[in-house]
Amino acid sequence: MAYDKDNIFARILRGEIPATKVYEDDHVLAFEDIAHLAPVHVLVIPKGEYVSWDDFAATGTDAEIAAYVRAIGAIARGQGVAESGYRVVSNCGPHANQEVAHLHAHIFGGRQFGGVRPRDSN
Ligand code: 5GP
Repeated sequence: MAYDKDNIFARILRGEIPATKVYEDDHVLAFEDIAHLAPVHVLVIPKGEYVSWDDFAATGTDAEIAAYVRAIGAIARGQGVAESGYRVVSNCGPHANQEVAHLHAHIFGGRQFGGVRPRDSN
């Protein structure tokens, strides 16, 4: 999938669309999902133009990847779910129903979740 510079998250990064930010550093932005599926539902995105996890892994810099992984942990802790538990999900590509073609990880928390099967993950 090619990167579309006008995807929703690119527009949030450019400040063209508002978002409730919960974390930001040089490489990462995190904001509340517009349609929460759990009491805690944060989207974490790299600031670079990456479509998917495999794209990011192949072409992201070590600094970007380290920042992204560290940010997800820090946000989980900052959202108060590190002890109670949380789920990190990144939908990539058609079979995963990726809606926005800019890499994002969902952090879900604040309630009990079902098993890891896709039908149970909401
Ligand atoms: P996906 O299905 O691609 O993994 O997740 C895309 C997510 O982006 C969905 O959970 C959806 O609610 C969220 N989303 C879509 N448009 C917007 C928006 O304009 N602002 C915010 N904050 N979230 C959005």
